[in-house]
Amino acid sequence: MHKILALPGDGIGNEVMNSALDVLDFLKTRNDLSIDISIEPIGGASYDLNGTPISESVLAKAKDSDAVLFGAVGGPKWDSLEWENRPEHALLTLRKELDLFANLRPAFLFDELLNASNIKPDVIKGFDIMIVRELTSGLYFGEPRGINLDQNPPNAFNTMYYDEDQIKRISKIAFELALKRTKKVCSVDKANVLEVSKFWRNVVAEVHSSDFEVCELSNMLADNAAMQLILNPNQFDVVLASNLFGDILSDIAATLTGSIGMLPSASLNDSLKGMYEPCHGSAPDIAGKGIANPIAMILSLAMALRYSLNFDELASQIEVAIKKYITAGFRTKDISIDGKFLTTNETTEKIISFLNE
Ligand code: NAD
Repeated sequence: MHKILALPGDGIGNEVMNSALDVLDFLKTRNDLSIDISIEPIGGASYDLNGTPISESVLAKAKDSDAVLFGAVGGPKWDSLEWENRPEHALLTLRKELDLFANLRPAFLFDELLNASNIKPDVIKGFDIMIVRELTSGLYFGEPRGINLDQNPPNAFNTMYYDEDQIKRISKIAFELALKRTKKVCSVDKANVLEVSKFWRNVVAEVHSSDFEVCELSNMLADNAAMQLILNPNQFDVVLASNLFGDILSDIAATLTGSIGMLPSASLNDSLKGMYEPCHGSAPDIAGKGIANPIAMILSLAMALRYSLNFDELASQIEVAIKKYITAGFRTKDISIDGKFLTTNETTEKIISFLNE
């Protein structure tokens, strides 16, 4: 029996989660799958109910699940709360407590949506990359850190720290993914100025030469990588990056594809348990209107089935159904160019009907 915990969250998190759960219910019934699904509040919804963005019992359930599906959290209603009670705090708590060190962010563009990208069609056509970002160390977690307003001059500082094990485990994930794709990994750093990047580059090279020589490894400085993603995005396949550089590069890559409503993500730990979420937020501007694009959330479900539940075939079927939806000319509002679009529910029904073909 597999266990999936669904955390819809706030705003459109609820709407897109309903879509993913409809798809999961359909697959569960059709394939007679043994999956136990529970649904719990998170973020602002949890704060309103329990006075905390993530309760101890939800955290315990997350630790006990094979996969956590996460919708989105946040919204103006909770913006003035102190950090511990802010909806976004739940997300960081889950990442830390489940040791979700590997953030996988695929970014790809359907040919039919070429015009939705800001990049010229001949440059972006065929775009399909996987950014592997280290998620639980590096500059965002390094100690010491602080702000000294009482010193002269007032100052602030952070620490970019990586140890060998942290780099090794994220590198292995990148190479293993590359083996299933075109066997190309580009590791991004700032080895020209940062000691931690020089060390990063050496450890990645070591992992490459000891276990993954069949893959092609290249290194690129982060500033050049940002430029190359725009100039010649198709030179990349798997991009391996630290927490800071991966954060920036994955947003650039997402933007290239036209709509944030299309892109899923996975965050995995050592035992390949994971949390799966769309790249977008709770979109308060469209929440409740029934027009959210559910594809990022449904593709996040596909990643959960592939990486944490080992149902690779079902994941591929979902991806094919979404491709059919796009090829048949159906669009949600965010990717429509002629003003015609389907609602969130209509889109979900169409995708399920393509799954049923
Ligand atoms: P957002 O991603 O929620 O929205 C940005 C824009 O994209 C909006 O115009 C929105 O309507 C549109 N959009 C996003 N997802 C869409 C979808 N599925 N279909 C159609 N359009 C979509 O980012 P934001 O506006 O900066 O943040 C809103 C709230 O979400 C904030 O409270 C923020 O803190 C939170 N947030 C949460 C997460 C998360 O839960 N992982 C991530 C980012 C932002």
